[in-house]
Amino acid sequence: MTIGIVGAGQLGRMLALAGYPLGLDFLFLDRSADVPAAALAPVLAGTFTDRKLLRRLARRCEVLSFDWENISVPALRAATHGLRTRISPPLRALATGQDRLAEKRLFERLRIPTTRYAAVGSRSGLERACARIGLPGVLKTRRLGYDGKGQALIRKRADIAAAWDALGGVPLLYEEFIDFELEVSALGVRGRDDSEALYPLTRNWHAGGILRLSVAPWESAALERQARAHLRAVLRDFSYVGTLAIEFFVCKGRLVANELAPRVHNSGHWTIEGAVTSQFENHLRAVAGLPLGSTAACGHAAMVNLIGRMPPAAAVLAQPGVHLHDYGKSARPGRKLGHCTLVAPSADERDRRTRALLRALAVSLVRAP
Ligand code: AMP
Repeated sequence: MTIGIVGAGQLGRMLALAGYPLGLDFLFLDRSADVPAAALAPVLAGTFTDRKLLRRLARRCEVLSFDWENISVPALRAATHGLRTRISPPLRALATGQDRLAEKRLFERLRIPTTRYAAVGSRSGLERACARIGLPGVLKTRRLGYDGKGQALIRKRADIAAAWDALGGVPLLYEEFIDFELEVSALGVRGRDDSEALYPLTRNWHAGGILRLSVAPWESAALERQARAHLRAVLRDFSYVGTLAIEFFVCKGRLVANELAPRVHNSGHWTIEGAVTSQFENHLRAVAGLPLGSTAACGHAAMVNLIGRMPPAAAVLAQPGVHLHDYGKSARPGRKLGHCTLVAPSADERDRRTRALLRALAVSLVRAP
């Protein structure tokens, strides 16, 4: 079976790495052939809206999936018109994951607590939103935002003009600033036969809007219960097939949904070494109509993103039990170039070894384990 994947970044690359042992083949589409997944499978190079190219991809595969969400829903729908090629995850989930406003409305409809927000389309609309929601708050582009890009913090009224100048001109969302205690993400997978498998909760640390560290399982029975209920509600509402992630703020012991990703997610990379079945393998099992694998943790895992500059492989691998994933990308400030993972027999040992790894990588994080 050939899986077509729109987007050939590191997520696509790790999907292919997980899929070959299952006997799956891959074909990618991306803007250039110089992309992380190109080392593993052919890449059709062109724009994400090129209907002819998407059609070529769709004709050559049984299932069409994607490794990022900023692709054209109508173009993807048209690509499979009249073909037996299935699109998984469903387009409704993709459309929701592309638009922060649609995400908020979904969370509200499913009674999943989320930040208070207002859609913003003009400078005066931003003034009104700040007055209604209050300050401080965060102004975000509704679309195409990732890794903290397309965001501006508004602490006081005097910041409104600069935030508007930086982001105005496209549809925006203003939301209350959450003074969170911590950030967690919930990852789950749903199969074509409606089976579900949910991973243990992951705790995340961001710096400059970019994920830096994840540890899992994050053991908190109360949060885990809430996360599982919210994840199940979203998976079922979409009649979802594949892996999905929801990021939450934890505020006064309660989960507040921030955003969702209808795909494999950076905060789930620990599952490659740290869970019985990785998020990548389970995504493929789901979209290929195969039974899902166990999502149980194999120990206590930590995952550190390698951002901007790749450390020498020997320096990372000199750390006992550390696994390295190099995405084969050229270095650029703020760019995710790879990650490394460790798995320990206890949470205490994981935290101790994580501190040593962060020191070796010269990464300092506020409130790190
Ligand atoms: P996002 O692109 O929405 O995931 O935002 C990236 C990161 O910015 C989050 O993981 C938080 O660390 C921070 N952030 C985003 N929105 C808020 C908010 N409303 N309040 C506080 N911090 C936020």
